[in-house]
Amino acid sequence: MSFDFVQTTPKSASSLAPHAPAHQLALAAEAGDALRDARVIHVNSTAVGGGVAEVLKSLTPLMSDCGPETDWMVIHGTDDFFEITKRLHNLLQGADGELSQGELERYVAHNENVARQIAAHGVSPDVWVLHDPQTLPLAALLPAGSRVIWVCHIDTTLPNRPVIEQLVPFMRQAHRVVVSLPHYAVPDLDPAAVRVIPPAIDPLLPKNTPRPDADVQRTLAAMGLDTGRPLMAQVSRFDYWKDPWGVIDAYREAKQSVPDVQLALLGVIEAKDDPEAFDVLETVRAHAGADPDVHLYSDPAEAGELEVGAIQQGADVVIQKSLREGFGLTVTEAMWKGSPVIGGNCGGIRTQITDGRTGYLVDSPSECAQRAVDLLREPEEARRMGQAARESVRERFLMSRVLADYLSLVRELASQASPSPRLNFSHPTSAAADS
Ligand code: UDP
Repeated sequence: MSFDFVQTTPKSASSLAPHAPAHQLALAAEAGDALRDARVIHVNSTAVGGGVAEVLKSLTPLMSDCGPETDWMVIHGTDDFFEITKRLHNLLQGADGELSQGELERYVAHNENVARQIAAHGVSPDVWVLHDPQTLPLAALLPAGSRVIWVCHIDTTLPNRPVIEQLVPFMRQAHRVVVSLPHYAVPDLDPAAVRVIPPAIDPLLPKNTPRPDADVQRTLAAMGLDTGRPLMAQVSRFDYWKDPWGVIDAYREAKQSVPDVQLALLGVIEAKDDPEAFDVLETVRAHAGADPDVHLYSDPAEAGELEVGAIQQGADVVIQKSLREGFGLTVTEAMWKGSPVIGGNCGGIRTQITDGRTGYLVDSPSECAQRAVDLLREPEEARRMGQAARESVRERFLMSRVLADYLSLVRELASQASPSPRLNFSHPTSAAADS
């Protein structure tokens, strides 16, 4: 079987009320009510690891609670498929290189197989919400009459142009394309089909619930960190674009001014669709060398939600030094816990952090080091910045807003008598094969 449904824990939208702006919950309730008889399916390629799984874990049951029966489908992949889609991810974020015709064909063929099985099982929701490149070809391959939204969570500020051209025919088969920031929308798409919905966090997840300081300190100590000494930390998959090497360089430079500072890099390797993580981890380990104050965590047995939450809350400086970042939920999570965050000046991080007020934006390891030293030397300023950060998340980046945005979009699409047809689609691989 090439897909499965993910079981989620039921959630009630009203339980968000103590945290969320009331107008967002009212909008979600109204849109959800109009969709009581509808069925929606989200599709991605992993149930664990990374921001999309994090969002779907909460968004799926919350949508169901508001009205439409909502499910979460995960498509399975082979190693070859995930190597291709990881490369697609990198190319869309601007890496050099290309996708060969053979790779494009295997990528599409895999999705054709998924689409065949979906049809064979008679799975037929009112609206499909496909996430990221792994599922994009389904926009063209799902049964005729399907209403399809494709969500791109990637930072496409400077994409690899030939690859965009290979994928645009699929993107055009979706009735709506959702991006996290306005400038991510590729110009080849009809602007009327594009919507901007940045992701958000669920404030009710244990990971996002601030804990008593003593608890946090206990968790950090159990992780081998010295709670009497300052801590810089980054929580992120081990991935080229998250620049873990730059974080180590920044830590080393900061250590010259604050000799007892420690560094934690936490990136649990579990997402099946991220085959590069082990290689990245090895080079990061080599870059860290024998420094006993650099702590790396990658094993799911040693770092789960508790540890992620503790690091984000307990670190003196949280870093997210990405070079590209579609959005960066780790930034939101740390800001929500009132921690000062230093973020790479790119993509979704730039949207979240107001430089100098709710965090710092930096363009180099050296700048990151300077800001870290400032924050370590001025804990009062760090605390004030963290509080401003928390308030900025409340209005813009809690799950209530994402819930309202998706329900409104699904309602809009479901209510159209006949959305523009997805007819006569001949995908680029067959076109190339014919020529
Ligand atoms: N995360 C986690 N453990 C890790 C690394 C990341 O639970 O070791 C979570 C993190 O808390 C966040 C998500 O995975 O909820 C990462 O989302 P983000 O948007 O920051 O980045 P992505 O991985 O999607 O590029």
